[in-house]
Amino acid sequence: MDFLPLFFDLRQSTALVFGDTVAASRKIDVLLKAHCRCYSIAPTCNEPGLKALEDNDLFHHLDVVTDELWDNAQLVVAASGDSTLDEQISEKAKLRKLPINVVNRADLSSFIFPSIIDRSPLIAAVSSSGELPILTRLMRSRLESSIPHAFGRLATIASKYRDQVKTSLKGINARRRFWEKHLEGQFADLVFSGREKDAEDLLTSAIASINSGEITNDGEVYLVGAGPGDPDLLTFKALRLIRQADVVLYDRLVSEPILKLVRQDAELINVGKERANHLVPQESINDLLVRHAKAGKRVLRLKGGDPFIFGRGGEEIESLAEEGISFQVVPGITAASGCSAYSGIPLTHRDYSQSVRFITGHLKNNSCDLPWAEFVQPNQTLVFYMGLIGLPVISQSLIKHGMAESTPIALISKGTTREQRVVTGTLSTIVSLVEAAKLQAPTLIIIGEVVNLREKLNWKSEA
Ligand code: SAH
Repeated sequence: MDFLPLFFDLRQSTALVFGDTVAASRKIDVLLKAHCRCYSIAPTCNEPGLKALEDNDLFHHLDVVTDELWDNAQLVVAASGDSTLDEQISEKAKLRKLPINVVNRADLSSFIFPSIIDRSPLIAAVSSSGELPILTRLMRSRLESSIPHAFGRLATIASKYRDQVKTSLKGINARRRFWEKHLEGQFADLVFSGREKDAEDLLTSAIASINSGEITNDGEVYLVGAGPGDPDLLTFKALRLIRQADVVLYDRLVSEPILKLVRQDAELINVGKERANHLVPQESINDLLVRHAKAGKRVLRLKGGDPFIFGRGGEEIESLAEEGISFQVVPGITAASGCSAYSGIPLTHRDYSQSVRFITGHLKNNSCDLPWAEFVQPNQTLVFYMGLIGLPVISQSLIKHGMAESTPIALISKGTTREQRVVTGTLSTIVSLVEAAKLQAPTLIIIGEVVNLREKLNWKSEA
């Protein structure tokens, strides 16, 4: 290890930063964030980044450096863009035994700036010891995506309870288990979703029940949208909850690669709903959720797309609320958004469509009891979920209510997955085209002028 990462308190310190460059302004920016007084030493102060910092009371600009400033400095940065000048600054700083950073010259530096993931008070710093800054950036973006933004709030709130927990739990191991459970569990989730008061209440009652010797039931349910198929379309929050769940209830719309993200020791329950062949009836799903949560488990209910769009998510949380079980709902990318983006069909467009309707095409007794006349409007996109079986009824009903036979229509099968197929046609041709293509469920239907944009955008055809 050539460089030791240390976290310095620079609040009463002074830094000299030489140069009117972008690099100089970046360093000053980060030093100011740490409340360090900064002297920008440069003949001019024209760099926009530096100009933007001028309102900060801790920022000063000088054309030339004075001996007095050198005497007061605790830290030096050379970013002049002139290698001879930077070398001279480095030498001078070293003579004065001041920590010096020369931008992009680890050989002339006694310290380097890491890449920072700031979730204050929690801070992570990454460095490649000046060897390969691009790698540092890649590692940083990985960490950025895996550390929720509210992590800092979590640390601040949890630290308020540190002493109370210390008093209530004597052993260091017991305290570690307490914090592990809460910092990865419902307390953390409440903070992440902005419900800080509920989070504090939860911690307070957990501490109270330790003090009174009670055992609490901490089970909870996460109702999570898994998106339309491509695992890259999961939200960070969905991924985090998928990784921490003890029990997972999923249905047929949840793709294989997403299920692979579940913890290996978690219990997987397939409650998959084939069309008209419900593997587990809705009431039993609700019961399963309640039963596992009551047993103290973290239960993940994974749903295709978004749980609140034709997902019966509302019914599931109703029964949880009735039983007093805490739950969270995490939105997912709904099939309409996923299929639209992956097939090159924008759902709205300034010239062709100013509104979009999501409709269920699920047939009851072989008919769709829908307000067809309302759907026949200019400049509107219709999206039918669950419409493959009902496609003949849907297209005929629209034509019957006045929609032109030539209206463009697209069917997207297994959208966003590697098996995605798209068939386009018109209301009068689509049924035979789809039959010939033997499209498989799940399939989404998009109707409206926007379908023509797919060709205009030169989208590659998969079907
Ligand atoms: N909650 C889901 C919808 C559930 S209803 C969501 O927000 O997407 C099930 C219907 O969604 C399917 O019949 C199909 O019309 C549509 N669907 C879901 N995933 C799909 C996919 N990958 N490709 C095409 N359609 C999909």
